[in-house]
Amino acid sequence: LVRLRARLARSQNSLGKGLLTLLSREHLDEDTWEEIEETLLIADVGVVPTQELVERLRERVKVLGTRTPADLRALLKEELLTLVGTDLDRVVKTESGEDTPGVIMVVGVNGTGKTTTTGKLARVLVADGRSVVLGAADTFRAAAADQLQTWGERVGARTVRGPEGGDPASIAYDAVKEGIAEGADVVLIDTAGRLHTKTGLMDELGKVKRVVEKHGPLDEILLVLDATTGQNGLTQARVFAEVVDITGIVLTKLDGTAKGGIVVAVQRELGVPVKLVGLGEGADDLAPFEPEAFVDALIG
Ligand code: GDP
Repeated sequence: LVRLRARLARSQNSLGKGLLTLLSREHLDEDTWEEIEETLLIADVGVVPTQELVERLRERVKVLGTRTPADLRALLKEELLTLVGTDLDRVVKTESGEDTPGVIMVVGVNGTGKTTTTGKLARVLVADGRSVVLGAADTFRAAAADQLQTWGERVGARTVRGPEGGDPASIAYDAVKEGIAEGADVVLIDTAGRLHTKTGLMDELGKVKRVVEKHGPLDEILLVLDATTGQNGLTQARVFAEVVDITGIVLTKLDGTAKGGIVVAVQRELGVPVKLVGLGEGADDLAPFEPEAFVDALIG
């Protein structure tokens, strides 16, 4: 966890120090507030959350007796935590019925890290003593099924796959059927994320969801978002949120050039909690999203 925090901190220290320096200025004039606003926007916090935060900071700084670095840090932490949300349910659900496995569908634009996230999640579950079946329903990207199967072999999970270009829904159906037959605990379904037509995407993901639900309820639909794509990623996320009922967000590539403020923006925009974060390409680089650790890293 310390290692993960260190990585998170490295990618995100653009926000806190700058803000604290600005808030420490002797005269907090309009120019300074504008700079504060800019700093937040550059950190990908998003327009509406930025405005809210600046308003809150303005009010609170006014009534703050002293403005020591510690006071300002505490205040900033509190307000950021409020924005990120401390009481959201961030547990990835994996339990359905007695005889049916928990089923998680993983969706998102190609390249965001869907397959990798599915593999990492399988590893976490297997390490936790759960048996996992993987469904390679991303039949659009040729290498996706191989990639998923490699993950499966590595972590000890069977992969159900179909012919190249096959019907994603039928693969998803078969994967859950296999999961039931094997008495597996969890079935993870990787899906394709081509975005060229919204109706195409809607049809495909809707169908996958419907056939999976023939076996029993879906526990989660996790949307994978590449944090380095910032506000563009948010636009894509919106499309997915219109197509399926997202229950949680996985923000990947937070170890890279991503700006941490995107967490705030994406949650606010979609009204869905960030549940997991991707912090690298390795098998162990998936972590639960912890608001407090995150905000600490964000402030630096
Ligand atoms: P998909 O098309 O959405 O299934 O994307 P992939 O799972 O194939 O991932 C695309 C690329 O992103 C691969 O090179 C992954 O190794 C990389 N990737 C995925 N998650 C992370 C992450 O959290 N951090 C970093 N640095 N790279 C990641």
